[in-house]
Amino acid sequence: MTLQDVAKALEKNRYQVQIFSTKEEANQYLNQVLDQTVIGFGDSETLSQMKLYESLSTHNQVIDPKQSTDNDDFLRIAKACLAAEVFVTSVNGLSETGVLVNLDGTGNRVAGSLFGHRKVYYIIGRNKIAPTVEQTIWRVRNIAAPQNARRLQLRTPCAIRGDRCYNCASSDRICNGLLVQMKKMNDIAMEVILIDEELGF
Ligand code: SF4
Repeated sequence: MTLQDVAKALEKNRYQVQIFSTKEEANQYLNQVLDQTVIGFGDSETLSQMKLYESLSTHNQVIDPKQSTDNDDFLRIAKACLAAEVFVTSVNGLSETGVLVNLDGTGNRVAGSLFGHRKVYYIIGRNKIAPTVEQTIWRVRNIAAPQNARRLQLRTPCAIRGDRCYNCASSDRICNGLLVQMKKMNDIAMEVILIDEELGF
């Protein structure tokens, strides 16, 4: 299935959609449509790989939890993101049927992606796409979450062994809230930016 096919499925689910070949083109587009705006980020590796904070913050007020210095600072910044005019994030998975899936430990990404902003942008690389909702959830739990746990150097079985989810009881567990977003939420603009590159986990 092509990105154009996935875009059609997303449009049926009421999202606006843009497709870009590279992260640089997507970055340029976002810098055109977002100017003099207060923007909250969803603590996303995809956004970091795009260097989106660096470009957008030259002409917007960008609030990014990745700029935090410790956990208290992270929580303060993540909370401020919830009140931003625009929220920019990624997802952990996207089905070819146009369903977005996010798995969250703290809840800031899931909370920020649903309500309270003028508009939400989801930036998604092609590696996040799976055929069905069930396969997307499997990917999120067994590929995205273990890779994230390993990146964060957590003491979880998935981070140590690196092969799959063990549905652990670790105090470091990052898989607490699973959001399966079937269609665009009411009364808020939502745009999905599909990028034909591997980005994030
Ligand atoms: S539930 Fe635990 S083992 Fe499974 S992916 Fe999340 S942190 Fe890793």
